[in-house]
Amino acid sequence: MTTERLKNYFGGEWVESNSPTAGQVHNPATGEVIGECPFSTAAEVDAAVQAASAAFPDWRRTPVQDRIQPIFRLKALLEAHASDLAATVTREHGKTLSEAMGSVRRGIQMVEAATGAPSMLMGMALEDIARGIDCESVRQPLGVTAAIAPFNFPAMVPLWFAPFAVACGNTFVCKPSEQVPFSQKLMFELIHEAGFPPGVLNMVNGAHDVVNAFIDHPDIKALSFVGSSPVAEYVYKRGCEKLKRVQALGGAKNFIIVMPDADMDMTLDAIAESAFGCAGERCLAAAIILAVGGCRQEVREGLVKRMSAYKVGDGSQPGITLGPVISASHKEKVLARIEQGIAEGAELVVDGRDPGVPGNGYFIGPTLFDGVSEEMSIARDEIFGPVLCLMDVPSLDEALDMTKRQPLANANSIFTTSGKSARKFRYEVPAAMAGVNIGVAAPMSFFSFGGSKGSFFGDLKAHGREAYDFYTDRKVLISRW
Ligand code: NAD
Repeated sequence: MTTERLKNYFGGEWVESNSPTAGQVHNPATGEVIGECPFSTAAEVDAAVQAASAAFPDWRRTPVQDRIQPIFRLKALLEAHASDLAATVTREHGKTLSEAMGSVRRGIQMVEAATGAPSMLMGMALEDIARGIDCESVRQPLGVTAAIAPFNFPAMVPLWFAPFAVACGNTFVCKPSEQVPFSQKLMFELIHEAGFPPGVLNMVNGAHDVVNAFIDHPDIKALSFVGSSPVAEYVYKRGCEKLKRVQALGGAKNFIIVMPDADMDMTLDAIAESAFGCAGERCLAAAIILAVGGCRQEVREGLVKRMSAYKVGDGSQPGITLGPVISASHKEKVLARIEQGIAEGAELVVDGRDPGVPGNGYFIGPTLFDGVSEEMSIARDEIFGPVLCLMDVPSLDEALDMTKRQPLANANSIFTTSGKSARKFRYEVPAAMAGVNIGVAAPMSFFSFGGSKGSFFGDLKAHGREAYDFYTDRKVLISRW
């Protein structure tokens, strides 16, 4: 069987990459090779950026109510093809079909939020800032913008950026993760069908060279990145050096505080879903439970019970609740982290190292460590797999201090029935995405998205109002007649 080699899409056309290098794309549930992703060259990035630059002058002059018409059509097409998209996500990423569908729905919400551009792009005006002199401020698009995506939400993450960028009058180039390029192939088929003018939305497949070519290209004015923290920091620093506007969303180590007064059934259901949903490959996944004031044993027993109910296997099959991790090499990394946790003295309460799934898929079962302490690597480093750590913490103050000492701060949650504890938590917790009695503190498309400290590099976050700030410049006009 010949495997499909993916194409790039720019200037309204599908274009074969002539790069000699490429990566294999796998179905993580079977290990089967399902495609080949070309590692496009800097010259191919330049061709896509030229197409985007050529489209910009006319697109920015297109009235915003006309610009959002293909966005409405894209929304309808995404609804019509949601199941195909979810199946594609499952096939190349491994998450279960219902998880994949959830992520497609979240992506569609971004498209919906971007159709609010006519209201969101309005400026401000004030008469008589001095006698007979008026002042107004308008928003103008930047030009060509670009985004670099991670593997874990193949359909959704590019939609955090593309609809807002083009609704604001910019043109856009996307680089999908080379591990999961098929969802964006389908997305760009729908984008093509939606009838955006050629060059408005473009895609270049590839790996590090494409990222570096985006950073170095003088015509890309704004760059969005989502991925691990070391690469986020690299893209942010190098992008800023090239005087671009950059937002770089990085990795996570999410601490969840459980107070002894929490509604335990609801809490433990939410925590299990947060830690093991999408095989733990979520930047909002629960990683460490800080069980406060003596509730550790109850949390432990409740989690063990819930973990035994997970059915590990191919996420495309009915009844499966935990799919594989993304690749053989990532599986090795997660297994090495588990070994490290054991070596550091944590107690492996539930061992998911061999979940007994036949075949060549990259499966790890739900895994729980107890007796974890702050200095252990499993308490510090992002694992990005279905591995949860449990710690006994005497007080809310100590739990909050622990979150403050962490270098990463993407999302934190508290589970409690006390308004006082919840208020203290929301006031003090460092993460910019915080949940009260919520396992996955994921804001909606009309709120901003992005963490703090080592989980986010930049000033303006993704989607919501901040997307309109990121994708426009404000021009102030002062006039006297
Ligand atoms: P990654 O950093 O390995 O890759 C992300 C992107 O950067 C990919 O497109 C990849 O091709 C490119 N890349 C990787 N290494 C590079 C390098 N050295 N130079 C230039 N480009 C490079 O991340 P991943 O493994 O694809 O995704 C998982 C990570 O993403 C996790 O750390 C997760 O927490 C994070 N993530 C964060 C958010 C968020 O909102 N903060 C959302 C999703 C995922």
